[in-house]
Order: sequence, then structure tokens, then C-alpha cells
Amino acid sequence: MHELGITKNIVAIVAEHAEGLSVTRVTLEVGQLSTIMADSIHFCFDICCQGTVLEGATLEIIEVPGIGKCQDCGAEVKLSQPFGRCDCCRSAKLDIIQGQELKIKEMEVR
Ligand SMILES: [Zn+2]
Repeated sequence: MHELGITKNIVAIVAEHAEGLSVTRVTLEVGQLSTIMADSIHFCFDICCQGTVLEGATLEIIEVPGIGKCQDCGAEVKLSQPFGRCDCCRSAKLDIIQGQELKIKEMEVR
């Protein structure tokens, strides 16, 4: 479970940006094609926040859908896995253009 390390990093980055203020809410964007499980991040978040300025903060996770672009015909295809086939020409040569991100979208401080 690499989510613990990822969550620790997120908490560290947010804490640094908070500059000593209490953080009440953190919003993350997690791509559906990333290997990160949103549930695991939720699970680790409270543990990682203990003893930091994020203690008691609410975590919100927005799941970003996966999109691939076909190298052959240029069509954009929705993906639920990091591979697939083009809806138009059935090509398997897809570039993933969305869905692999992990971003801290917003944070609220008190
Ligand atoms: Zn295509």
C-alpha cells in the first residue's frame, strides 16, 4: 500500500503551504487511471494528519475520469483502465491525456 507514503507527502505539502494556520479542508483530484485508491487515501489521511496543522481537517477527493487520445484517428476515448481501444477505429495506440493525475486542488485554512 503506497498510499500511506503518498498521503504523508500530501499532508507535508499542505502543512507547508498553511504556514502555521489550521487547515480545515483539503480537496484532491485523483485520476481514475492512477494506481491510487481514493479509499486508501481517506483511510491514511486521518492518521497522517495527527499532530499536524491538518488535524481534524476534512478530505474531499474528486475522481478525474480517464481519457485517451487515439494516435491513429485522433478520437478521444473514455477509459476506465490505463489501456483500451479506440471507439472509432479500434486502434490500441492510445495516449492517455487525462486520468493519471494526483493534484492538491484546494485547501481551506482557518
Ligand atoms: Zn482511432
